[in-house]
Order: sequence, then C-alpha cells, then structure tokens
Amino acid sequence: MHGLRTVHQPLPHWKHDITVSGAGCYIHIPFCAGKCPYCDFYSLPRPAEALLDRYTAETVRRLAAQAGPWRSLYLGGGTPSLLGAKRLGEILRAAEGKLLPGAEVTVECNPSSTDEALCYALAEAGCNRISLGLQSAVPEERRRLGRGSGLDRTAAATEGIRRAGIGNFSLDVMLGIPGQTEASLRATLSFCLTQGARHLSCYLLTAEEGTPFARLASAGALSLPDEDAQRALYLCACAFLEERGCPQYEISNFAQPGYESRHNLGYWDAAPYAAVGPAAHGFLHGRRFHYPRDLAAFLAGEPPEDDGPGGDFPEYAMLRLRLTEGLREDLARTRFGHGIPSPLRRAAEPLAALGLLRLNSEGVRLTREGFLLSNAVLGRLLDADSR
Ligand code: SF4
Repeated sequence: MHGLRTVHQPLPHWKHDITVSGAGCYIHIPFCAGKCPYCDFYSLPRPAEALLDRYTAETVRRLAAQAGPWRSLYLGGGTPSLLGAKRLGEILRAAEGKLLPGAEVTVECNPSSTDEALCYALAEAGCNRISLGLQSAVPEERRRLGRGSGLDRTAAATEGIRRAGIGNFSLDVMLGIPGQTEASLRATLSFCLTQGARHLSCYLLTAEEGTPFARLASAGALSLPDEDAQRALYLCACAFLEERGCPQYEISNFAQPGYESRHNLGYWDAAPYAAVGPAAHGFLHGRRFHYPRDLAAFLAGEPPEDDGPGGDFPEYAMLRLRLTEGLREDLARTRFGHGIPSPLRRAAEPLAALGLLRLNSEGVRLTREGFLLSNAVLGRLLDADSR
C-alpha cells in the first residue's frame, strides 16, 4: 500500500525536556451532568451536594498523605468543573505545597459548567491550564454525540478562561462522528484555533463495549465511518493543524510549540505519578496501581490495588512510540544502560520499508501511517523484543 521510504531520515530535535525530575499527580472526579452515549469512563450522575462535599473532603485527606514534589497536577474525570469553584479550590490548595515551581496545573472542564467566575477562581487557586471538552463545532454532529449545550457556551467558556489570565487551554475534538466530513472537521478545527486553543486532543470515536453507541451499532442503527474514512479524517486533522502551527506530538495530540501537555508527556515517558480517585491509575516507586471503579470504596478510605512492577523497557518503548519523537537511543541508554535492542531494530526494518516508521542510529519513530496502525505496529516491534 505504500512506497519504499528511506530508513535514514533524521529525527526531529526534541525541544522539551520530558525526562525532568519529579512526579505528576492525577486526581479523578467521577461525576458528570449526564452520560454521553459513547463514553465508557468511570463517571456517575451528579450526586447531591453533600456527597460532592464528602468526595472533596476525602480527596483532600488523601492528598495530604501523598509525598511530592510534583511537576504537574491534573484534575480529570468525569467533569471536574461540576464540583464548582469552592470545592475545586479546596483540592487545588491541598496540593499546592507539593508542587514544584512552575508546575503545570490542569483542570478538565465542560463548557456547560464553566463560567467566568469559575475561571477566575481556578486561576486564583493555581490552575494554569484548562482542558475543555468540545468534540465538534458542527451542530448536527454535536446532536449525534448527545452534546446538550451549544457552541455559544464553549465560546463563553474560552472567553472566561482568557479573561482570567489562563493563557493555555486545550480543546478535545472527536474524529469519526457519523456524518463527519473532512470539510466539517476542518470547520471544527478552525473554530478551535479561532478560540485561541494552544493544544488539541483529537480522539477517534469508537463504539466501546457496554455503551449506548455500541448497542446502536450492533443493532445496525448507528453507522460509524469505515477505516478508510477514519484514515482520511485523521490525516486531514494532522495536515490541517500542522499547516497552522499546531503540529502533532503524540498519536492523538497536537500543540503549538511549548504548549505540549507536560502532565501527559510524563505518562508517555513512563515517569512516576501519584493518583487519587476511583478508577484512577498511578505509578510510584516502580509499581503500577489503580483504584477500583467504586465510589463507596474510595469514600470508605479503601487503598488502591497493586498492579505489579512497571516501567521496564517494553513498557517504556510502547509509551515512547506514541510520541512523534519516538524511542530515542540516547534516552533509552541513559535510562536502561542499553540502547534499542537488536531484535526490535530488526523487526522495525520491514515496517520502515512499508512507511509505517522511521529508523536510524538515533532511534525509531512511527509515521502518521504507523500511528493509524499503532496497535499492530507496536505489537510487531515489542513481540520481537521479547523473543
Ligand atoms: S462528559 Fe466526558 S466523562 Fe462525562 S460522560 Fe461525557 S464523555 Fe464521559
């Protein structure tokens, strides 16, 4: 399907040091105003105010027991903005003393629960980055996704973010919405850039098992774009954003230079991170762990469950290869005392000939075509390494 490409192209220079010291911290807020029909994240309908207070108090209690320092803090969900300014302020202030100077502090927000007052309160409490769920700027596509609020709410939210002095915000965009075309996708991406987004996350819509979308798809009542259409939309997003100064830096993520998500870069560099909240995953002291998807257990003070050791070379390679920078020989050598193993390099050669990755003395990195087939490509590379 692809012509032969040279295997000796230079790798791009990486300008952002992602092997910095210090861990990140992820806090999960598992409440949403409603359930989106495609979502399989752990999120519950908005509970009574008293339970939101209890959740906040338990999160603050658990944060107090964590050791920093953290170079990034990320409140995700769910819909953290649903907690409101006061509770979010309590959580952010509980973490404040554990943050390194200049730490990136992100709060995920839904436009329908994000007004100017909330933005000012977040900025006051130390938030310097907001991630806003948009999905699409096309009304018909938004309706298909079950998105209630209109674009005016998103525009009001981004205005509030700017006024509050939070110059760094990200918008989530969905690729592969039924009926989406390259033209409608470009309209959505243009809207994002016009709003002033420094960072975009573009995720492919999939019918995850157990969701209403999966049931509709299996009943033939929902038709998602086929692989060729998904490929065209993905490549369209990559090219459109690159041409406008917002290049891809990870399979699904794009940013103006210097605005890459430092918190997420930590995940892809297999850096340690603390975690708090039901369904949250963490990685500390060489061990992975997770909290069960169980609000009651979290509120009762149950500890997270151990998932065993993490951060070995195959895991590190798998995560690094999600980045456009890829797996670097020098960083691997510093971290593991050896470079990229010969079996992995040998397995990479035929994939490079297919145009799915680039390979040279500096490292290995996937191309956009490789990202589209990342599961198969990574499986081939890492399977070879384990033999
Ligand atoms: S707002 Fe986000 S987390 Fe909540 S149900 Fe929708 S997609 Fe899932």
